[in-house]
Amino acid sequence: MEIAIVGSGYVGLVTGVCLAHIGHRVVCIDNDQAKIRQLQKGHVPIYEPGLEELLKKYYKSGRLSFSGSIAEGAKKATVVFIAVGTPSKKNGDADLTYIENVAREVARSMDSYKLLVEKSTVPAETGKRIERTIRLNMHPRFKNSKKGAPQFDVASNPEFLREGSAVEDFMNPDRVVIGVETKRAERLLREVYAPLKAKIVVTNLATAEMIKHASNSFLATKISFINAVSRICDRVGADVEKVAEGMGFDKRIGRAFLNAGVGYGGSCFPKDVDAFVRLAEKSGYDFHLLKSVRQVNAEQKASFVRLIEDKIWNLKDKTIAVWGLAFKPDTDDMRSAASLDVIHALQHEGAAVRAYDPKGMERARNLLPGVKLCADAYAAVKGADCLLLLTEWKEFSSADFKKVMKAMRQAIIFDGRNFLDGEALSDMGFEYYGIGRGHVQKT
Ligand code: NAD
Repeated sequence: MEIAIVGSGYVGLVTGVCLAHIGHRVVCIDNDQAKIRQLQKGHVPIYEPGLEELLKKYYKSGRLSFSGSIAEGAKKATVVFIAVGTPSKKNGDADLTYIENVAREVARSMDSYKLLVEKSTVPAETGKRIERTIRLNMHPRFKNSKKGAPQFDVASNPEFLREGSAVEDFMNPDRVVIGVETKRAERLLREVYAPLKAKIVVTNLATAEMIKHASNSFLATKISFINAVSRICDRVGADVEKVAEGMGFDKRIGRAFLNAGVGYGGSCFPKDVDAFVRLAEKSGYDFHLLKSVRQVNAEQKASFVRLIEDKIWNLKDKTIAVWGLAFKPDTDDMRSAASLDVIHALQHEGAAVRAYDPKGMERARNLLPGVKLCADAYAAVKGADCLLLLTEWKEFSSADFKKVMKAMRQAIIFDGRNFLDGEALSDMGFEYYGIGRGHVQKT
């Protein structure tokens, strides 16, 4: 099939490359002309395991191409995926300006049937607005034409991939959700995904939009739930890791997303929870459960900083080493990373921060002024009064901790992801603090 993807960011690029991989002809479009020029030179602007090899392969073979213009790029396509950003507005609403712009541009250049598919995460009823925007913005020549305007459909196909394993997730989805209002749209989307042989869930448009919001908010709820439990564990001498393990064996609960830590971040959970709270509010329901999820997440970061302050004493003029800046391992994405809030709070108290992340340094540069970005994990701990682990990159667990201890001024580790072997580190002589591991923290 001829497919266009509008928005070539984390979701759009992965979707485009993977759809080419399963046999379609794909054009990835973006209005960031510098990004398109980079892509046309075969340079991948984001880090995502496995993406670069596939992108180069299909670009070379001609099955994948890049364009800076919707009119040109989407001309031949029957299916047009919209994968532009939907950031938060100040009041928590999803900002749908980019979606509207794309709908308008597609409408103006449309001269044959198109299926527009929401891939971006959008609140329920966005599909209806896209449809209206297209009708209002079709080329004026169709007003008097005998044949009438070209037909089109709008569908929802929310994306569930996880950054860091996005290619793998796209190829092996737990399910593909398609929200459609016509048989034609259903048939086309089934055809797009047929090579994956995945479980396909067909719903109407609004239901598919809700599935995405409800899924992300539920996952955020699981994280905040175990984080809340971790706070009690600290006070009663229980180990949250064992609690999660014991809970996780129950099939009704499952172990996934029960990892206590400094809280969730990233480009999705914070904004999607905000948007769902707002959508609920507008529909007349006060989603107080989700408001608490958000509050627990914020408190988790604050309590981590308080723990550091409690054990380090004065933060002013202390040197704090940070391992991991990206919002999760195997990505360079720094959007709403927990590291940002923690580091800003430490800097506010007068601490100097030295940091290292395997892939996130380039993006961290502008977001973390005043932080000394170091060449590797060992350079970061030089002269440090304590070490914080904020992203669970594999390389940190296999570090040479004898070397680390030698380089530090005080051998104290705060493991914000319960990722390191706390017992082994304590045996080596480190003071080790995880999250909810049973060290009493009465704050
Ligand atoms: P992103 O910021 O990485 O990419 C968005 C791209 O759209 C950018 O390259 C931007 O230049 C481009 N763009 C904006 N307006 C445009 C226009 N008018 N024409 C052409 N291009 C335009 O965002 P992302 O992380 O890929 O997320 C995209 C959407 O997918 C969001 O709604 C997000 O919530 C959702 N989503 C993201 C993830 C994830 O893990 N990142 C997972 C599932 C769903």
